[in-house]
Amino acid sequence: MTGKIMKGIAGFYYVYVSGYGLFECKAKGVFRKKGIKPLVGDLVEIAVIDEQEMTGNIEDILPRKNELIRPAVSNIDMALIIFAMAKPDPNLNLLDRFLIMMEFQNLPVTICLNKADLADEEACEYFRRIYEPAGYRIIFCSAKEQSGINELKELISHKTVAVAGPSGVGKSSLVNLLQSKEVMETGSISEKLKRGKHTTRHSQILPVSDETFIVDTPGFSSLDVPGMEKEDLWRYYPEFVPYEPECRFQGCSHINEPKCGIKTAVEEGNIPLERYDNYKLLFEELRQIRKY
Ligand code: GDP
Repeated sequence: MTGKIMKGIAGFYYVYVSGYGLFECKAKGVFRKKGIKPLVGDLVEIAVIDEQEMTGNIEDILPRKNELIRPAVSNIDMALIIFAMAKPDPNLNLLDRFLIMMEFQNLPVTICLNKADLADEEACEYFRRIYEPAGYRIIFCSAKEQSGINELKELISHKTVAVAGPSGVGKSSLVNLLQSKEVMETGSISEKLKRGKHTTRHSQILPVSDETFIVDTPGFSSLDVPGMEKEDLWRYYPEFVPYEPECRFQGCSHINEPKCGIKTAVEEGNIPLERYDNYKLLFEELRQIRKY
């Protein structure tokens, strides 16, 4: 049978098999010899040991589509970044950090703005002006009024989604609304996944409906991840990319150089100033990190 690893803990892997539920599996020694370790998110072939007890062995790992650093999971299809329109007020510098981390890891991103019940049309327009030039889709929703939930369900259907966002914005409330009861009841998945929850900091995937999965992404307090260089930062701003060939100087940092295509685009209103200002702050931050 083929399943997906939801969680790994103390040498056991919890593998979700659609229609059956969660199997507690061990990985056979052959992986150790090959030097590969099963990862949360992996699609695996399992051999059932005991159908009643729902135990098995992982026999094979299917080729990975991708492998993320944060969280350490494989086969992620997209990222959903959740912020609130108010309570807490959105911090755009933090939102840009999340976006950069997702662009850096090559994931398509959608921005979800929850607590839309606390905001007016003007506030929505503000976000559209800043984030639509980059091509980001924005979904406004409210867990409280249950608006926008179908749009979210449609977006994530049949995907494995990395969910990120600060605390208090309504992530748990939204995930609860997205979860289908049928899936959580098969083979008492919720009970098994809860086991040992507080003893591990490892990633864990949650099945929300058949073939749809969610994984929590820890916060990024720093952009200090291997491979993130200040010289490449502009590449993670999709709306900057078309203007970069217009820069006069090779290796332009888009900060102090004259005849910079990106600065011109900001002046002409083609790149939102809010995004460019954050770019400058994050560039400086990366410079400080790499100094030492
Ligand atoms: P998390 O920390 O991101 O998981 O946030 P929670 O789901 O725990 O929600 C934080 C608080 O915001 C709770 O008091 C929720 O009741 C409240 N909340 C969640 N969604 C909404 C919403 O759409 N509108 C309003 N007004 N409050 C919400």
